[in-house]
Amino acid sequence: MIEWDEQTDIVIIGSGLAGLSAAIEANQAGASVIVFEKMNLTGGNTRIADGAVAAPNNYLQKKLGIEDSPELLYADMIKAGLGLNHPDLVNVMAQKAAEAIDWTRETLGVGYMDRLDRFGGHSVARCLTTRSHSGVDFIKALSHLLKQKGVEIRTRCLLNRLQTDNQGNVNGVQIRSDYRFPDNQSGTVRNIHAKRAVILATGGFGNDIQFRMIQNPALDEAVDSTNHRGATAEGLIAALELRAAPVHLSWIQLGPWSCADEKGYGRGASFASYSVYPAGILIDPATGQRIVNEWADRRRRCDAIFKAGHICVGIVDADGAKLDSENLQYSLKRGYVKPFATLTELASAFEMPDGQLEMTVKSYNQSVRKGGQDPFGKPLTQGVKPLVKPPFYAIRLWPKVHYTPGGVGINSKAQVMDLNNRPIPHLFAAGEVCGGIHGASRLGSSSLTECIVFGRIAGQQAAAINPGHSN
Ligand SMILES: Cc1cc2nc3c(=O)[nH]c(=O)nc-3n(C[C@H](O)[C@H](O)[C@H](O)COP(=O)(O)OP(=O)(O)OC[C@H]3O[C@@H](n4cnc5c(N)ncnc54)[C@H](O)[C@@H]3O)c2cc1C
Repeated sequence: MIEWDEQTDIVIIGSGLAGLSAAIEANQAGASVIVFEKMNLTGGNTRIADGAVAAPNNYLQKKLGIEDSPELLYADMIKAGLGLNHPDLVNVMAQKAAEAIDWTRETLGVGYMDRLDRFGGHSVARCLTTRSHSGVDFIKALSHLLKQKGVEIRTRCLLNRLQTDNQGNVNGVQIRSDYRFPDNQSGTVRNIHAKRAVILATGGFGNDIQFRMIQNPALDEAVDSTNHRGATAEGLIAALELRAAPVHLSWIQLGPWSCADEKGYGRGASFASYSVYPAGILIDPATGQRIVNEWADRRRRCDAIFKAGHICVGIVDADGAKLDSENLQYSLKRGYVKPFATLTELASAFEMPDGQLEMTVKSYNQSVRKGGQDPFGKPLTQGVKPLVKPPFYAIRLWPKVHYTPGGVGINSKAQVMDLNNRPIPHLFAAGEVCGGIHGASRLGSSSLTECIVFGRIAGQQAAAINPGHSN
């Protein structure tokens, strides 16, 4: 028998977007909730995210008359995910995405910029970005609301283990309070009884070098990551110890917009993501030629850079650079982005073969003007503009570990599935700790949407359990 130190209806592990969305819903449904967070700061990767959310038929698309549908987002996600995606999960996300955005506006009071972006792999412009250009807006709004409702978020509490009763129902957690990341022996062990359920929302493992090397030995400490320090795998491992189904763990995603001259994510990456890829071209400096459809999904773009075998150069002109002036100014000051009056000067700075870049841009511009066929399959008729206006800006790009699409298997009720494809009673999961939604590759701006959709579902479903009964 476990000696419980404390009890509540629902324990939530992780204070990112998925965990806090779940907490709001569970509280709303009348359950008592405690959120445990291992770091001394809440918010995980959500806090440092760009704040971009994809939703078909969102309010701004309607205002701007952009045609879209859940079916089109579904198709885009399956294409990027190489068809490995679990279709029922993709469908839930695509159908509920616009409603999720409305919820953030109406219930949380989150505001969005008056712009829609089209990131690689999306067929239309459907991505909204929070006003501060950061996921912190979600964390602030959720934390504020939870405080008003008396829901506690306890930081420096590490999930050690998921506890079960004799029938295998998850009935609580063992945590270490006063924990000091990353010392897994620090703090005091305490057992918390969850009368209804436990929700796992511990995020991804992009910064867990040991765990990611089990999946892909090439991703060693020499490969940088855009993630927060606490993006490690203990939460996922706790679920695997209960025979949770591991899904797509080795499909680790790298970001093709990562700036080679800046540590972690930084602001250069943001500029490359919002400006260089949507409005510019990616060049192999050894040849002065393009290497990929700049609107392709992340995996295809990273593969093209790896194939080149060295740092590649993203180029955008003055008009395209306006898409993210703020990060441009920051990156120019620190030298992450460099301005050039002419393409010839740019080419010479990166030691490209004489005249080759000028030829590449000339032929690209001709194709764009004619709306012709692009050798890499970029849809040139869909608002792509020629690169003509100086200064031309260049950024050196080399992929970093960004997102882990793999995790525990869940069903459309956010129940964690076991190795026999049956729900593990009273255990739910949401957000990046889950696998299956994105398959081989996630589309930009689809994670935060997923966290809201499945976080809310997990909170509602967990709260619907009668204490003491199996789900
Ligand atoms: C730099 C960057 C930019 C991004 N930008 C975007 C974007 O614009 N749009 C988009 O859709 N996606 C974006 N992503 C991806 C997205 O931010 C994440 O996938 C998403 O925030 C994950 O949310 P989550 O709630 O699942 O996990 P997180 O927000 O990471 O929260 C998980 C929390 O759980 C805690 N935790 C982990 N293990 C334990 C444990 N054992 N015990 C207790 N607590 C634990 C962690 O410390 C963390 O605080 C970005 C990612 C990064 C790194």
